[in-house]
Amino acid sequence: MGQFATSRKRMVQEQLLNRDIVDAKTIAAMSEVPRHLFVDDAMQGRAYGDHPLPIGAGQTISQPYIVATMTQALRLTGDEKVLEIGTGSGFQAAVLSRICCQVYTVERINSLLARARKTFDKLRYYNIRAKLDDGTMGWAGNGPYDAIIVTAGGPEVPQPLVDQLAEGGRLIIPVGDQQIQELQLVEKNEGQVKISCLSSVRFVDLVGEHGWSK
Ligand code: SAH
Repeated sequence: MGQFATSRKRMVQEQLLNRDIVDAKTIAAMSEVPRHLFVDDAMQGRAYGDHPLPIGAGQTISQPYIVATMTQALRLTGDEKVLEIGTGSGFQAAVLSRICCQVYTVERINSLLARARKTFDKLRYYNIRAKLDDGTMGWAGNGPYDAIIVTAGGPEVPQPLVDQLAEGGRLIIPVGDQQIQELQLVEKNEGQVKISCLSSVRFVDLVGEHGWSK
C-alpha cells in the first residue's frame, strides 16, 4: 500500500470510526477519494491530518471529520441529486459524487474552480458539474435538489436554497457570525421547514447576496 493510502486508512479509523461517523457510504467515500490530490504538492504530506488546510485565495479545505459529519447528516442513499455551495478544492464534491447520482457545485473564486475542475477530470469524476457564481442564489434550472450542502458560513439560511430544496430534502449549512457558527440541518417536509442544530464549527465566510457582503 502506498504512503497516501496508508495515511488515508489511518485517517478513516482514527478521525472518523473512532468518533461518531457510522454511515457506511460516507466511510466508503472517505476511504476512496485521494484527499492529497486536492491540496498543493507542498502540503500533500499533511492532507490526511486532523485539521483544515489552506487551498489559496484565503480559503480552506475542511477537516476530514467535518466533511464526513456533513456528508453523513445528508443521509444519502445513492440516487440523489445534490447541490454544493463552495467548491473550494473540490474535495467535498468529490466525496458526494462517490455516493449520489449527480453533484452540482458552485464556487465564486475562479482560480479555485479551475483547479477543482482539473482534479475532477484527472480522477474521472464525471458526475460533477461546477460553475462560477454566487451560490447563495442556488443553481436554478437543475433543482429541486434532494440535498444541499453549504461549506462556508453565513448569517442566515439563504432563502433561494430553501426554495430549491426538494420535498423531503435535507440542507446543511454553518450559520452564525464571522468567528463561529453552528451547523444547522434544515429539513423540508410537506412544505414545512424544520431546523436542528448539530455542532459548533468554524468556516470561512459565505460571501454573496444572501451571505456576508465581504
Ligand atoms: N467544500 C470545499 C471547502 C471550501 S472553503 C472543499 O472541500 O475544499 C469554502 C468555499 O466557499 C471557498 O472556496 C469560497 O470561495 C466559497 N464561497 C464563499 N461564498 C460563496 C458563494 N456565495 N458562492 C459560492 N462559493 C462561495
